[in-house]
Amino acid sequence: MVASFGARLEVEDAAGGRLQCNAVRGGEPVVCGDRVRFALLRSGAGKRVGAVRELLPRRSLLCRPSPDGALRPMAANLDRMLIVLAPAPALYEGIIDRYLIAAEHFGIPPVLVVNKVDLLAAEQHRALRERLAPYAALGYDLVWASAKREDGLDALRATLRGHTSVFVGQSGVGKSSLVGQLLPETDVRVGAISEATGQGRHTTTTARLYHLPEGGDVIDSPGVREFSLWNIAPREAAQGFIEFRPYLAQCRFNDCTHTHEPGCGVIAAAERGEITPRRLASYRQIIEQP
Ligand code: GDP
Repeated sequence: MVASFGARLEVEDAAGGRLQCNAVRGGEPVVCGDRVRFALLRSGAGKRVGAVRELLPRRSLLCRPSPDGALRPMAANLDRMLIVLAPAPALYEGIIDRYLIAAEHFGIPPVLVVNKVDLLAAEQHRALRERLAPYAALGYDLVWASAKREDGLDALRATLRGHTSVFVGQSGVGKSSLVGQLLPETDVRVGAISEATGQGRHTTTTARLYHLPEGGDVIDSPGVREFSLWNIAPREAAQGFIEFRPYLAQCRFNDCTHTHEPGCGVIAAAERGEITPRRLASYRQIIEQP
């Protein structure tokens, strides 16, 4: 298991010991969360050095677009994407939908985490529950939390247990604060990086894997937390709206964009009330401004 990835790899063996390794030469880059076979080259003075011999098959791979448009792998073998939302900064369904497309695209089951519930009066809390009810109706899990008041952390731990997770979401929603609450022994700095460099947020792709005291792992880094979507093709977007899926095969045209085409299964389903107007509008907005 590769625990960190940067200039060199840190690999954790089955007994939890760590050793430094060089990556597979000329092969697929090894990223945080990868499982590898390695050979021990030398050990001594409390330090062990090895070499990665084989990269084992991945369950999933989270990638980010690089400036040249290619996808660069960031973290592997994830099985939970915690999409963090908060009443402040403003919450937009369009952003939730974009992260859900990413989760569906990479095959990483998403969970919506609503942080900063301490900011909500009872009536606002009720209104937000109602606003997010369509996501629960689609089968997505929601966790209500406050990193500040330490609310919902047990529910969050239960969600994380037995899985390898990432926290993603807009800047300022409280991802670092939540990770900091879950990993009290670790220095996961809150909003500190931009202050240090004075050049805006750090966007390194270096990631670290942390073991949670109650079980489960979190892969974290500024680059992973704030990964954003690349140009989303209409086909990918439509697949990411899970309630569209049963209707996609009903479209008359194979390349239907579900915007104006006659004989569109998705538009017909929306007219019958089987797809909500808001989600259809969100899909259209995403494909217009991917
Ligand atoms: P990130 O950019 O998503 O990692 O967000 P941070 O963890 O850096 O938090 C952004 C700001 O929101 C900081 O000022 C935090 O103190 C604040 N914050 C985080 N969680 C909570 C919360 O549960 N309630 C309130 N009121 N503020 C929070």
